Amino acid sequence: MKKKLGLTSKIFIGILLGAILGLILKGMPDSTFKNTILLNGILKVMGSGFITAIKMLVVPLVFVSLVCGSSSMGDVKKLGRIGIKTLCFYLITTAVAITLALGIGKLINPGIGLDMSSLITQKPTIGESKSLVDIVLGMIPANPIQSLASGEMLQIIVFSLLLGIAISMVGKKAEPIKNLFESANEICMKMVSIIMLLAPYGVFALITNTFATTGFDAIFSLLKYMFAVSLTLVLQAFVVYASMVKLSTGLKLKPFFKKFASVAAVTFSTASSNAALPLTIESMEEIGVDNSVASFTLPLGATINMDGTAIMQGVACIFISQLYGIDLGINALLTIILTATLASVGTAGVPGVGMITLSMVLTSVGLPLEGIGLIMGVDRLLDMARTTVNVMGDCACTLVVSNSEGEFNKDMYYGKDCNNLNKLSESELNKDMHQDEDCNNLNELVD
Ligand code: ASP
Repeated sequence: MKKKLGLTSKIFIGILLGAILGLILKGMPDSTFKNTILLNGILKVMGSGFITAIKMLVVPLVFVSLVCGSSSMGDVKKLGRIGIKTLCFYLITTAVAITLALGIGKLINPGIGLDMSSLITQKPTIGESKSLVDIVLGMIPANPIQSLASGEMLQIIVFSLLLGIAISMVGKKAEPIKNLFESANEICMKMVSIIMLLAPYGVFALITNTFATTGFDAIFSLLKYMFAVSLTLVLQAFVVYASMVKLSTGLKLKPFFKKFASVAAVTFSTASSNAALPLTIESMEEIGVDNSVASFTLPLGATINMDGTAIMQGVACIFISQLYGIDLGINALLTIILTATLASVGTAGVPGVGMITLSMVLTSVGLPLEGIGLIMGVDRLLDMARTTVNVMGDCACTLVVSNSEGEFNKDMYYGKDCNNLNKLSESELNKDMHQDEDCNNLNELVD
């Protein structure tokens, strides 16, 4: 915990120092020292080196974590109806989240007004001429090894899902391979945390370069980006989830949000769905969800359902495309919806991974990864907020599914569980009373 905080503060210091140095450099006249040694020398090595190190992890991380995620499909099958309902809910809410994010991104236009195209080291390769048929056909890998080698994200996703599902269908005999992927997953996560140690220096260099080129415009654009992500997160939480719960269960929402507040305190401070999981399960059970549902839907959600992360990725795609003056056509937007939904499955519930899987979404539509450098500076703050939405999505689904399965105790939800009041004698009850009023009166008697 202490270490994590240490890294976060270091990243913040990196941004601050980067912004200050960048603004100083912007005010300085061009010279060999400024341009060749600093900006295009030392800082470029630090910044681009960091981005390349992230890129290095994308293919192994996505491959391994998608195989792990989909190889637990066996559990979904075992749980039958609940499993299918949960999966559908998770995938649909993620697709809704990312669509909302793209819409809000287009409305707020966070990247318009800041031109970073001069900072691109690699020419973007947006394939606008590709038709939907080509995209779908292009998802099937003719040679998966080649797809892995050339980083064809959609093909890698298709292959990993197929492999994972096959592992789960084979069952016991595939156990060694499943274990192998699980330990490879742990190793990938470790590599992520090692690379993240470089983040403060990478972010410092990237922010310095950005501010040295663009000056104050960068701050304004970053604030707009943060606003667009936050607004979409709020809409997802209080409009999308709220209406889904209300419409499908008819429950009042206050007890749900009230209970969720304690979970939110943990997700916000840890920025990790996994870290919050024990409390999430406990809280949902305390408001009436049966353990048989909560113990399945919540761990699955913490692993594969990341609506908040998908929102950040959607807005980030719009932001980065605008920074570099790249127009995203309808095919590119559809590809983003698809890849960000799958990236959400492949994002582990620990801090910062959404930023790594963002590079997979950017790559899938040919957007330059350099843009990550700018938003990484403010990512920790947004990570805290999006993790909260990630977990709220799991809880909303859990409520809906448990209610539809009849595995839900409404009295507990409204804090009117009569069980502990049974000690009162029957004669004290007004038998004509409605059950809710029963509880109120009993509570008064007990008080
Ligand atoms: N921190 C997020 C979570 O744990 C994942 C991410 O977006 O980085 O849910």
